[in-house]
Amino acid sequence: MAQTTNRQILLVEKPTGKLGPQHFKMSESAVPEPKDGEVLLRVLYISLDAANRAWMQGATYRSAVEANSVMAGGGLAEVMASKAPGFAPGDLVFGDTGWQDYTAVPAKHLVKVPRIEPLTHLLSVFGIAGLTAYFGLLNVGKPKAGETVVVSAAAGSVGSIVGQIAKIKGCRVIGIAGGKDKCNWLTSELGFDAAVDYKSEAIFKTLKAAAPNGIDVYFDNVGGDILEACLPQMNLRGRIACCGAISQYDGAPSATGPRGIPGLIVVKRLTMQGFIVTDFYDQRDQAFSDLQSWVKAGQLKVQEDVIDGLENTPQALIGLLAGENRGKRMVKV
Ligand code: NDP
Repeated sequence: MAQTTNRQILLVEKPTGKLGPQHFKMSESAVPEPKDGEVLLRVLYISLDAANRAWMQGATYRSAVEANSVMAGGGLAEVMASKAPGFAPGDLVFGDTGWQDYTAVPAKHLVKVPRIEPLTHLLSVFGIAGLTAYFGLLNVGKPKAGETVVVSAAAGSVGSIVGQIAKIKGCRVIGIAGGKDKCNWLTSELGFDAAVDYKSEAIFKTLKAAAPNGIDVYFDNVGGDILEACLPQMNLRGRIACCGAISQYDGAPSATGPRGIPGLIVVKRLTMQGFIVTDFYDQRDQAFSDLQSWVKAGQLKVQEDVIDGLENTPQALIGLLAGENRGKRMVKV
């Protein structure tokens, strides 16, 4: 018998401080009917992204998520019924499905994806995380063999791929991550040359020891004090790829940095460039092909952190912001 109930997780209140379980509520509604131009989707996996929290602060590269609506979020889904040309039951798609079992959405907002195994790779290495790492590092960071690349949130989904691609390109790679376990994993399993534990080490000093020749490319996932520690260590004509600022997303930031940016940028002729993964979507085929061949050759290891059950999605995001995850965190609905 076809399922008639749709479980949905609502954001009931926008957090002003740290995100907590009290900001969410599980609710139930009927499975929606697709209108003309729409498809009915069954959500298989929900992507947990640091940006989910940033969307609660206001409009970013997308509109803000509002209180008392289904929490927004990227998801991998299967088409159940279609009233849109080009989409048929059984097709796999990626889109903003929200945190729920079913959704009916305009087909024009969906991207069809191939049915590869394991499906989870479509959210990790072949999804937004892999593409963000690929485009941000290669198109914005522009590393050359022999250069030193530093990446923050290095054990996370984007960061762990950035560091490995930089190794493939012949760079010296230093990761910044929270905790000894994550740092050991970066050097022993992922082939990073060094790792700095920003939670227990004096970041500026340890980074200087790990990068004695300075930093040529800094891939910035966190902003704040870590960006401030990297800036003075940048080499002449260094590039900073500004990918995100997770240290500023979850409540009042404790960070005061970065200070002293303009002078450093001028004197060192630095390039500091923000980007959004979709800026480079015209190069998706090339990225997909490179990522696939690196994974196949064993040069790029894929780390996933899959949590079971839609009801656990709020806690999964709260935990991601607290650094629980290693690699790409997602929820199997
Ligand atoms: P991750 O899988 O990297 O998880 C987030 C990690 O950030 C945590 O595991 C935690 O690891 C670290 N972190 C949390 N708080 C802090 C802090 N205050 N200081 C330093 N590190 C912290 O998440 P995502 O891959 O979703 O996101 C990584 C970054 O990429 C984010 O900034 C996100 O906004 C950005 N992004 C940008 C895109 C774009 O198009 N520009 C697209 C996708 C993501 P630890 O234990 O090391 O603290």
